[in-house]
Amino acid sequence: MKKLEKTALVLATLLVASASLHAEAKITAPVTGKGTPKYLFVFVGDGMSYPQIQSAAYYAGKDAAGIVDVVKKSENPSDSPEMKALSFYQFPVAGSASTYDATSFAPDSASTATSIFTGYKTHSSSINVDITKKIKYRTIAEQLRDQKKYKIGVISTVNLNHATPAATYAHQASRKSNYPIGLELVESNFDYFAGGALMEPQDKNKDKTSIYELATNAGYKVCFNQKSASNLENGDKAIVIAETLADSDSMSYDNDRKNGEWALRDYVRKGIEVLDNKTGFFMMVEGGKVDWACHANDARSSIADTLALSEAVEEAIDFYNKHPKETLILVTADHETGGLTIGYAGTDYNLFFRTLDGQKISYAKYDSDYVSAYKKNGTSFEDVMKDVEALFGLKLPGSNGSNKNGGLVLTDYELDRIKTAYEKTIKNDKSRNQQEYDLYGTYEPLTITITHVLNAKSGLGWTSNSHTGLPVPVFALGAGQEEFKGFYDNTEIYKKMAKLTKVVKD
Ligand SMILES: [Zn+2]
Repeated sequence: MKKLEKTALVLATLLVASASLHAEAKITAPVTGKGTPKYLFVFVGDGMSYPQIQSAAYYAGKDAAGIVDVVKKSENPSDSPEMKALSFYQFPVAGSASTYDATSFAPDSASTATSIFTGYKTHSSSINVDITKKIKYRTIAEQLRDQKKYKIGVISTVNLNHATPAATYAHQASRKSNYPIGLELVESNFDYFAGGALMEPQDKNKDKTSIYELATNAGYKVCFNQKSASNLENGDKAIVIAETLADSDSMSYDNDRKNGEWALRDYVRKGIEVLDNKTGFFMMVEGGKVDWACHANDARSSIADTLALSEAVEEAIDFYNKHPKETLILVTADHETGGLTIGYAGTDYNLFFRTLDGQKISYAKYDSDYVSAYKKNGTSFEDVMKDVEALFGLKLPGSNGSNKNGGLVLTDYELDRIKTAYEKTIKNDKSRNQQEYDLYGTYEPLTITITHVLNAKSGLGWTSNSHTGLPVPVFALGAGQEEFKGFYDNTEIYKKMAKLTKVVKD
């Protein structure tokens, strides 16, 4: 190849690379921010605050750039870090919301979703009831259904009667009342539900009529596979359960998803097709497993599910481009989970996102498909470490490669940590002294230690196995977007949606 041609090729590659740094679905319609939202999308990344979205943007950046490592500071400008903008980074308005509830600065999904969908603070673990647990609060979805005759869609990667989706239609003192929540799902008469399976569909003792049967009797088409889901048509009333179910009957983590298995965006696209009508619709979409991954301190899976939510938002952006004066899209979260930080003393504050590529499987799938077998068979540490290398990239000390600067070779200290955790796991020892609780929480010691070591090598840190008090972002695009500027409480999200859609409290 001639030198000139080569230069042209490099330039072309660079152009492609920089073009792909932007989100795939572009806002092409005019953005006036004016109008009344007839079509209202609310995307909720559960546990997805700034660390979750920004780690995803950094991680995706290197792939987008192709020739550029996002991994470390360098003298060479072409090695400079580059992020990939998530789809909602192009929204013209970004605000922030505080998340505390009536009992906690580190609240849960039930109370925070109550705030977002009803405008009231309540106890952690309560859904749409007041702190005396006597008064029921109506939700924005119910009000839009009754007062505006909007169609309603509820999509979640976790169980459809889990706290966040339940907070659009249920009213319960405890989020654990799975069967009563399921009954309320059917009574809601909402038009489209899609996601993970119902928890306890026949109640705790399996002695009640199945929620699925009640739903069918109430006129729902209940689909348990993608083929029947893809046959749904505009105007259908449907409940779609993911064909492949993962941990706790939720949808697969996006990094475990098989070829051909629907991603979150596929459920959103189908939902738009089913709900679209001249009067209007409200659609809530939850990326619920960002939270689960962060509880388990599994950054790679948090990133994968955050990117899947970003891609699902692109479906709404495409819809916005066709109905810019009548569509409002919000992307927010209920709280942060895990105390995730981007930057860690152990790597001298450098970041090595490339290191996470070593991980091929979520913590949950590793637990279910591998660790349970180790415990049953008493698998040797040597054999376990072969899987650890194949599935997480971590190699024994002395292997080819580096144990510094994001390299995947383990130091003796890191190997010792994994070995100690392996011994606890293989004995199936559930007891925890203070140090062990700090290290493992209630998770499988081996698995959480592997992700801790891998995440630390990449420069990511965690402080919690539960929720934290960080504020959350609120991105807005479309009719009424200006309302969402500034810093406010999460109860204001409901108030702003109600004001814009002109529903009244009832
Ligand atoms: Zn959580």
